[in-house]
Parts: sequence; C-alpha cells; structure tokens
Amino acid sequence: MNNFKTAAISVCAALLSIQAMNSKSNNDFNYVVDNFADIEVLRYQVPGFEDLSPNQRKLIYYLTEAALAGRDILWDQHGKYNLELRQLLENIYTSYKGDRNSTQFKAFEKYLKQVWFGNGIHHHYSMDKFTPDFSRDFFDSQVALLPAAKRPANLETLTDIIFNPQTLAKRVNQAEGQDLILTSACNLYDEGITQKEVEDYFAAKKDTTDLTPISYGLNTRITRDKSGNIVEQTYKSGGLYGEAIDRIIENLEKALPYAENNQQKEIIESLIKYYRTGNLRDFDAYSILWVDDTNSQVDFINGFIESYGDPLGMTGAWESIVNFKNVEASHRTEVLSNNAQWFEDRSPVNPKFRKPEVKGVSAKVITAAILAGDSYPATPIGINLPNADWIRAAHGSKSVTIENITEAYDKASHGNGFNEEFVIDEPTRQLLDKYLFITDNLHTDLHECLGHGSGRLLPGTDPDALKAHGSTLEETRADLFALYYLADPKLIELGLLDDPDAYKASYYKYILNGLMTQLVRIEQGKDVEEAHMRNRKLIAEWVLDHGKVDNVVELVKISGKTFVKINDYDKLRTLFGQLLGEIQRIKSEGDYEAGRDLVEKYAVKIDPAIHREVLDRYANLTIAPYKGFVNPVYTPHLDNTGNLIDVTVSYDENYIDQMLRYSRDYSPLTNK
Ligand code: ZN
Repeated sequence: MNNFKTAAISVCAALLSIQAMNSKSNNDFNYVVDNFADIEVLRYQVPGFEDLSPNQRKLIYYLTEAALAGRDILWDQHGKYNLELRQLLENIYTSYKGDRNSTQFKAFEKYLKQVWFGNGIHHHYSMDKFTPDFSRDFFDSQVALLPAAKRPANLETLTDIIFNPQTLAKRVNQAEGQDLILTSACNLYDEGITQKEVEDYFAAKKDTTDLTPISYGLNTRITRDKSGNIVEQTYKSGGLYGEAIDRIIENLEKALPYAENNQQKEIIESLIKYYRTGNLRDFDAYSILWVDDTNSQVDFINGFIESYGDPLGMTGAWESIVNFKNVEASHRTEVLSNNAQWFEDRSPVNPKFRKPEVKGVSAKVITAAILAGDSYPATPIGINLPNADWIRAAHGSKSVTIENITEAYDKASHGNGFNEEFVIDEPTRQLLDKYLFITDNLHTDLHECLGHGSGRLLPGTDPDALKAHGSTLEETRADLFALYYLADPKLIELGLLDDPDAYKASYYKYILNGLMTQLVRIEQGKDVEEAHMRNRKLIAEWVLDHGKVDNVVELVKISGKTFVKINDYDKLRTLFGQLLGEIQRIKSEGDYEAGRDLVEKYAVKIDPAIHREVLDRYANLTIAPYKGFVNPVYTPHLDNTGNLIDVTVSYDENYIDQMLRYSRDYSPLTNK
C-alpha cells in the first residue's frame, strides 16, 4: 500500500512561491543528473539535516549504512542471474579500453544504466526485460578481453538472457489465465514450481481462525526439498541472504546508542531480533512497536515490505527508507488525522462499512535521507504501513508524505511543455499552475492518512478475497477517498486550502492522467498492468462512462487533438463518491466477481487510437516518462581514535559513480 509511485509525468508546473514558503532548499540546485532510454535521474536535497542534533545525524548515518547493505538482496529477488549479470556488465564497463563515444559502447552504457535502474534486467514498471541495442559481436569481443577470472563460468546462460527475448521475458506476469509463477522471471520461486503447488502449500498452512494471522511467505523463497516437496527458504541471518542481513544487523547495532528514546531503541532491537530469527511473529511484534512510535523525529523502514514484485502478492521486496520529520509541513497532515473520525463518519459509503472508531491514523510529512532497495532509484512519494490488516485494525498505521521527493519532481518538471500540450485551455493551465502542487500534496495526504485506513471488512470476510485485483482495488479505494474529500469545504474550514476552486486543479489532472497521459508509460499494443495505473484508469474511465448522461466529463477534439474537458466539477465529485461506495462494498464483502468485472471493464484495455495519439504527442516533448533519484552522499567524520564525531551531507555524486560505488562498497552477496 506504500508505493504511491509517481515516477510520473509530473504534470506539475507548480508555484515557486508555495515551494519557497515550504522549503529552505537552494533554488540554484541542479536537480537533473542523467537521462537515458525512458528514464530521467534526479537528485534530491535533504533540507534540515544540518539542523538535527549530532546524535540524530549519527543515527541517520548508521541507518543509511544499514539501508545500503541490503541492495544485493533486492537484485537477487528480482532475478536469479541479476547479480552475476551486474558484475559482468560492470567489469566490461570499467575495464573498457576502446572509444567511449562509439555507438556500440554508448548502447552498452545505456543498457547498463537501465539494468542499474531496474535493479536487474527488467524494467521497474513494465516488468519487461530490457532489449540491448549493442551487438552480440561487441559483447563477445568485450567478454573475451576480460581476464579469465572475471569471465563467468555460465557465460552461455548469461548471454542468452541478455540477447534472447524469450528467456525470462517478464519479471512479474499478471495476465489472467496463465500460471503466474511459471511465466514470471522473478526469483521468489524456484524454477518449475507451479502456481497451484504454491497456493495449495499456503492454503494448507493458513489458519483461517487466527485473529492475528501471519503474513505467510513475506520473507521466504519457495523451493523444493530432495523429495520434491515444496519448502520455504527463509531470509535471515544464517539463512538465505544471510551475509547481507548480517551487515544490516551490524549497522543497526551501531545505530542503537544514538536512538532518540527507549521506544526507538526497542524498535531497532526488535528488528534485529526478527532478522536473526526470520520468525514472522517477530516481524509483527516489530511492526507494532514501529507503528506506535510517533514521538521520534528520525524514523526508518528496513525489511521485506511490499509484495508488488510477487505475482501472488505474498513475498516482500527488500527496501529501506531513512527519514526524519519535517515539523513545519507535518502540521497539514496532523490537522487531517486529528479529524479522521469526521471524515470517516461522512464518507459516502454504506454506514455499515464505516469504522465506528478510526484508530491511530498518524500522519506526517517527512524528509527522506536515503532511498534503498525497492525504493531506489524509483521511489514512492508516500508510505502507509504496516500492511498486515489486523495490525492496522488494532494499532492503526503510520502514513507519510515524502515532501523533499515531491518537491524535486516538481522543480525538475518546471516548464517542460507538458501542460501546453495536454491541458485544454489557458484558464485550466493557470488553475494547475496555481493549485496543483498544494492539492497534489493534499491528495497524497488524504490517500495515505485517511484513505487506506478508512472502512472495515464485514465479519468473516477474507482480507485476500479480491486476490490478484486486491492491490488495484485498494489503491482505487484510497484514491477515491482522497478525491472525494479534496473538494470538501471542510478543507477550507481546517485552513488547508484557501480557495473553494483549488480542488479542480487536482481533479483535472487526475482525469487527464487516468484517461490519457499515463499511457505514455505503456508501449503501443500492451495492456495496463501495474496496480496504481489500473486504479487511475479505472476511476477515470468509470466517471467518463457514468457521467455521460449528464455530460460531466468528455473527450473533445480541437484541431485534431484530443483533450479532456470537464463540464461539471460538482457532479464529478458526486460520481467519485458513488464509485467509492461501490469499491468499499466490494472490499467489505469480499465480492471478487464485482471487483474483477470493474477492473476488466475499465482498467486494463487501452483504446489503440488514443494510445497512439498520446505517445506521438508526448514523444514530441522529449520528456522521460519515468523518474528516479540518486542519493546524497553522507561523509562520516572520525576523531583520532576512530570514533564517529559527526556526519555531513553532499550532493555532487553522479548516477554512474553512485552505482559503481554501491556495487564496490555494499555488495555482501557478490563480493564474498
Ligand atoms: Zn496507496
């Protein structure tokens, strides 16, 4: 439920004035670091780091080291051959003696940059394998130049993976009617294991009467024992990925003396315990301590968290984000969470699906200090955890908006011509200029602080009843909650907005994105697959369809180009409310068929004519559809006896140098 991924199309040409008010960051900062294929790499600032106490800076330093130590884990989860391939490609890259401006070398460099960005050979978003533009001859000749010790024993296999489009074609396959495990290249299941075997294995294990159910499969890889039975390999110290996990533990231990308070110390200790035992009950205990801590300024996640990378949605991809609270901007989300019950009581869903008591919705705006694992280089802009439904019900959830990241997106996209191409007219563009940054932030706050935490399941409803469509429908629910309330006068009463028309900026952009502009991230002829993109398409197509009678939203042609035209913003809000009512019913009752029908009707298939048009118009703008980040560099300052006295941050590292440094210094699984 994390991963409000906007690698997006920041449609935003936000108000510099708002940003100037909200941040102390430097306006001359160079946000764009690199460009290749469909990717733009940015950098972000960490405003406020210098204002923290020296102990907080030391705490952050060791937590960032613990974050970077897990990098190889994610690479291996993404594909069995990723680490070997990375080493081979990097060896060729660093030892290359020829012309670095030659077409072949440039194509090779582009491929390596893509592989780094995907944390493996598949695209982070489409999940498709990258296609090399360099020749087989070039590759063979470069491998031949490597010293014998650096030529891998299974060169033939690795070469086939790079050049044969059929081999390991897709990391996560979500196409219905196929064996999702056999057709997915991720390394969470051993070769030859079928979906049915895994489903049977977990069905037999699941105790459906357990009121505190374990998140089965979250930290395990599935393989077979010698007799061919399905068994789990646990990610833990001494287990699978043990070398990397030991390095994480080592740095968490170094962080301990600098914990801000006892509660935080306990959180770190309980995470260490879980990494040692691999016991998911220990993970739940840690999650409860973590969600209950709302006092510490520094915070972090580190573990196997989100399951989007698993075709069956069970195993968590390893990730880490270290952050600290942005006290000023957190005021906004505190106001929302203090009023959570007001929103819940008025939500446009059947009252029996509302929570009589919305518990512990904590919300804050944070400043990211490091992004790692599944959150790097492409990153979420909001986080809402933990994921276990029973913990959320009993302890609430922690919800954050990462504002130094949204700000970087925003500033980097300023004046890129996007709005001029896709927004219907000048008044609408002005509306976006004026209100999109603030209403987008509020949308994220509402989605994360209130949306995911709202509503309840009817007694006896299986939380996994929506199966493969669960993620899409959950994101749909949270987005609709946010959209519905963005237009509520309550936000003005609470002082969060000052203009009753401000919400229209967000509404326009949402529909434009859902119907048209998000399609730039999909190749012609393919379907929408990623959960958040499906969610946006579902909502936008549904309101287009159901608003036809009253002409609420329409697609109009102007000089041969298609534009979104919104004729009635009031009725649009009503439609969002109606759809929220239905999605909440589906979730609360576990109505799989109704959920599937909505997804299939509205969220998957793309009109080829619109798709072609959007791709062509977008191509003329030369804007990268996906964005990600390099991290800042933290430098430890030691005294004569080697004790850490302080830490400073700098922003001068480029993309290639950072990737090579990480492979050199943070690769416990490759540099054994
Ligand atoms: Zn979400």
